[in-house]
Amino acid sequence: MSEINNPCISCGACCGYFRVSFYWAEAEDGGGTVPLSLTEPLPPFLRCMLGTNSKAPRCIALQGTIGKAVSCLIYPNRPSTCREFGQSRENSQRDRACDRARNYYGLPALPIFTP
Ligand code: SF4
Ligand code: SF4
Repeated sequence: MSEINNPCISCGACCGYFRVSFYWAEAEDGGGTVPLSLTEPLPPFLRCMLGTNSKAPRCIALQGTIGKAVSCLIYPNRPSTCREFGQSRENSQRDRACDRARNYYGLPALPIFTP
C-alpha cells in the first residue's frame, strides 16, 4: 500500500483510543528503539506510550488532528504494538479494533475490498 493511499494518515484514531503498552525492553533503556522519555513504566514487565494510560488516551507522539491529518513523531521507532496493529481492509479483512477506534471518533469503518 502506498503512503498516499493509506487511510491511516487521515485517521490516527487508534493512537487516541487504546492504551499502547509493550514489553519494557522495546524502550531505549532495554536496547530497543522507543524513546524512553515518551513512555511510562507499567510494572513489572511493560511500558506504555505517555498519554495512553488514561481514560481519554492520546499518544504523546501523535501529531495533528484525528480524523483529518496525522503523523507519528517516532514512526520508524514506534513499538511493536503499533507496528502490528491491524488496519481494517488489510488482506481484505475487517479489524474490530480499528473499526472501534474509528467509530469512537465518528469515522466510518474502512471499506473492505475483495480482489
Ligand atoms: S484506526 Fe485503523 S485506519 Fe485509523 S489509524 Fe488506526 S489502523 Fe489506521
Ligand atoms: S507511537 Fe506513533 S503509531 Fe504508536 S500510538 Fe503513538 S502516535 Fe500512534
